[in-house]
Amino acid sequence: MGPALVVRKPGEVLLEDRPLAAAGPGDVLVEPHFVGLCGTDLEIIRGALDPAYTRYPLVLGHEWSGRVLEVGARVTAVATGDPVVVEGIFPCSVCAACRSGRTNLCAGYDELGFTLDGAAGPGVTAPAHLVHRLADDVPLAAGALVEPAAVVLRALTEIDVAPASRVLVIGDGTVALLAAQLIRMWSPSAVAMAGRRPEQEDLGRAVGVDGFTVELPRPEAYDVVVEAAGGTAAAEAAFRSARPGGQVLLLGMAGHGRAASLFVDDVVNKDLRIRGSFSYTAAAWATTVRLLNSGGFRPLHLVTHRVGLDRFAEALELLATPTGEPRGKVLIEMNGASK
Ligand SMILES: [Zn+2]
Ligand SMILES: [Zn+2]
Repeated sequence: MGPALVVRKPGEVLLEDRPLAAAGPGDVLVEPHFVGLCGTDLEIIRGALDPAYTRYPLVLGHEWSGRVLEVGARVTAVATGDPVVVEGIFPCSVCAACRSGRTNLCAGYDELGFTLDGAAGPGVTAPAHLVHRLADDVPLAAGALVEPAAVVLRALTEIDVAPASRVLVIGDGTVALLAAQLIRMWSPSAVAMAGRRPEQEDLGRAVGVDGFTVELPRPEAYDVVVEAAGGTAAAEAAFRSARPGGQVLLLGMAGHGRAASLFVDDVVNKDLRIRGSFSYTAAAWATTVRLLNSGGFRPLHLVTHRVGLDRFAEALELLATPTGEPRGKVLIEMNGASK
């Protein structure tokens, strides 16, 4: 048993004791140490997410890291005490999407923190092939960034970022900051960020942003525009700021049922390529873990707040209401983190 952060139904979030599930022969039971919160968690709490993607009541927590508590009899890849991250999407492995590697589009997947109980509780049981060992020198808190980083990395690998591209990232939250950081692997000439909170500028600079602005981005000025703010106006700004022949990558969620205006003639006349990207594939997850373990990706400076599970309300408030202070990833420290 242990305390878990549960959304009983939209609007009702509280701590509740939950039992530990036992690990079957092919499973691993992991004790969560750090759980990142994001805007999606707020939407789950509000009930604003497309109902097809959630099942209440549920334990929150889809961005997380922890240590192995127990392994099933058939598991050899990890051992008790190992630092790990676990793919949150449990794909069916047999549908057409899974067989083509697009596990993010699996026709029958479950997902931790959405349709399955997430990591803001005493433990998570997962099939061993979804459990990835972290290198011993990777801070466990950095592991909690693997999920959002895998989402960003999967998206970036779906577009063509030529060397010396001029890149614009719209947004100043964690996904935007991760996009600005990870797109550096493609050697752009410059990465600009159009945010809404001037206090995010230092975090932007820390991940390699060359120019941070809270003004509307310049029209038709960028080869690649990554929309990571989530909002219809942000999507419209993304279409406007791509140069003729440019690419627009949509990562932000504008909200279930909300529509942006698209000037169709501009898309045609500008020969624009527009790409959406949903979640991450198993391959993108594995690549993200490899980058983290090799030191090629160091996201820890994006963690600005760590809050104990018993103070979850503070963590949610930090996320919901800008304070004027820089805010990157807000982590909940689970009970295991102090051991
Ligand atoms: Zn998230
Ligand atoms: Zn599938």
